[in-house]
Amino acid sequence: MADSRVVVIASHNRSKSREIEALLREGLADLPVMIRLLADYPDAPPPPEENADSYVGNAVIKARACAAFTCAISFADDAGLEIDALNGMPGVHSRRFAGEETPFPAKMGILLEMLKDVPPERRTARFRCAVAIATPDGAIYTFEDTLEGRIADAPRGQAGFGYDPIFYVPSLGCTLAELPAAFKNRISHRAKVMRQAIPQLRGLLREA
Ligand code: IMP
Repeated sequence: MADSRVVVIASHNRSKSREIEALLREGLADLPVMIRLLADYPDAPPPPEENADSYVGNAVIKARACAAFTCAISFADDAGLEIDALNGMPGVHSRRFAGEETPFPAKMGILLEMLKDVPPERRTARFRCAVAIATPDGAIYTFEDTLEGRIADAPRGQAGFGYDPIFYVPSLGCTLAELPAAFKNRISHRAKVMRQAIPQLRGLLREA
């Protein structure tokens, strides 16, 4: 049975889920809604294969699978790092870049090595994030946004996750991993796309 008071975050990535949860709690604070993580469902199926060739496509795969399983409004994101000097790599394959099991310090080391002769002005990059909202009756809503920056010459900072230590934000003079979590969560690609998506989610919850 569809549960109209629940929104499920369709992610198996804890760091990302925490960022999304904080943004949803803030954006939906005045509505009687329960925010749950897919990890709260012990019999949840394994994550679906993210085999689309776009961020939006992968977000839709995750949101649809989650809505079908939970019968609740489901919220998924898909993000990646696009480096201009590497023709947009690692892009939609950011998680799998250099091997799914390769730790992030090693992935970042490989990217920095590939960029070792690239001067600062040509190290432009962006995080791109897509969000999909799926309802149990099959409706889908999608959104996309970016955060522009540059690839640093070395990793800096301990906060955040993934590629944050090498993503330098010129207007702030630091990497994303040098920002407190709450600050990153106000300016990030994920925060920007969530600001687009939350009004849609609020509309769906009010209609339900
Ligand atoms: P996915 O959206 O979970 O498929 O993420 C794709 C890849 O990009 C993962 O390896 C993440 O660690 C990385 N990624 C996604 N969002 C961020 C972010 O906000 N900061 C750093 N890396 C990220």
